[in-house]
Amino acid sequence: MNLSFRNRIALHYMIATSIIVAIIFVVVYLVVKESMYQNIDKDLSFEASKHAGEIKLAHDTIKFTNKAEWEEIEHREVQINPVFIQIMDAKGRMMDKSPNLKNNELPFKNIETFGPHFNTYLNDKAIRQIQKPIQSDGKTKGYLLAAMSLEPSIMVLIKLRNVLIISYLLLLSVLYFISRYLAGRSIIPVKNITKTTNRITKNNLNERVDLPANHDELYDLSSGINKLLQRIENALERERQFTSDASHELRTPLSSLRGTLEVLIRKQRTREEYEDKIKYSLSEIDKMTETIEQLLLLARLDSSRKPDKDEGVLLPALIDDILLKHSTSIESKKLSVDFKNAFTSNVLVPKYYANLILDNIINNAIKYSKNKTTIHINLYDSEAGSVCEITDEGIGIKTEDIPNIFNHFFRSDALEHKEITGNGLGLSIAQKSADSINASITVKSNMGKGSTFFITF
Ligand code: ADP
Repeated sequence: MNLSFRNRIALHYMIATSIIVAIIFVVVYLVVKESMYQNIDKDLSFEASKHAGEIKLAHDTIKFTNKAEWEEIEHREVQINPVFIQIMDAKGRMMDKSPNLKNNELPFKNIETFGPHFNTYLNDKAIRQIQKPIQSDGKTKGYLLAAMSLEPSIMVLIKLRNVLIISYLLLLSVLYFISRYLAGRSIIPVKNITKTTNRITKNNLNERVDLPANHDELYDLSSGINKLLQRIENALERERQFTSDASHELRTPLSSLRGTLEVLIRKQRTREEYEDKIKYSLSEIDKMTETIEQLLLLARLDSSRKPDKDEGVLLPALIDDILLKHSTSIESKKLSVDFKNAFTSNVLVPKYYANLILDNIINNAIKYSKNKTTIHINLYDSEAGSVCEITDEGIGIKTEDIPNIFNHFFRSDALEHKEITGNGLGLSIAQKSADSINASITVKSNMGKGSTFFITF
């Protein structure tokens, strides 16, 4: 059965309430029935005891002493719920009976049913009866039977049962509508969420779900969705910013390239001038190519298409390789490298990601170092993991810029150092790679004196 959420809640309300009401109705019915029987039984016991004192035991017979008076009352008064009395001898033979029994006889039960009250029939009419032994000298001489009609009580019980069943059915239908109404009200926040989320597209991502007044589970759900929307909005905003920065970053060398070529074509130039301008244009093209490659790399790091199995490599060996790769720039700046390995065991790191991290950071250390200074690379174990510390004696980074250096295209003091080329993507790539292998990068810097990058694997 494919019930809506609202109807399912309503059904659960209904089932729970109808079970409780059914139990209450059954208990009410049973309590009324029991107290009716108790009242009849009390009356019967009283009548039996009263008439037991009006019996005369003779040799073989047992008779009532006041039968005449009794008949007189019978004539005079209308008895609404008469009590039938009958006397039997020990063998179950009828000895005497109240005048209201006329030709009828109360049924005699055998000896085991002494004491308790029981239901039976007199002339096809239901009666309640008690059977009391008549004793003399310690012997049972006979029995006194007292009975009352059960018809009025049964009628009351049938009426009560019908009333309860009808009111139960009415209650169920009323309950159905109330439950549907209440269920409808309680899922209003869910409907709001559906309405709002259906309305939201990437053009109106700033819309939010209305928070319900009560701080309950639906409030948590709504605020959870709002937080999710906020994160999506931030991510989209970052993406927009990134696209615009990337376009800008590529447009600048392109316009410079165009400008150079336009100037070049205006008139005849010397061979040296042509060579000079072409070399400049090629260097701009190289810059663009590098930026595009780094952008592609960033996109790859963001996507799920990352290398599944990144082979392990020994950290010192990886650093040696990177230093070798950059040896030309190290030599041209006359830098020395002070490399200390204090690892107590062989430290293996994922080659692809560790190379991206260290290559960018070592490349920066070289780029931003002052000539003829030293780059210190220290490897050591710490509680957090294996640390690679790279310190340069370079230009340093402004304290307020440190939190931004991992952002795309961020370049601190770029205008101050025009001779140092870059596009502000290297550390973003390093940070993304570190995130992929749960490594961390922290920075300490002293403006004008140098910077230290700590990479913990
Ligand atoms: P870039 O291509 O500009 O080097 P990065 O993302 O690698 O881009 O670095 C971002 C910015 O952080 C750099 O522009 C520079 O201002 C600063 N930076 C990074 N490393 C160093 C360093 N070792 N010394 C001084 N500044 C640094």
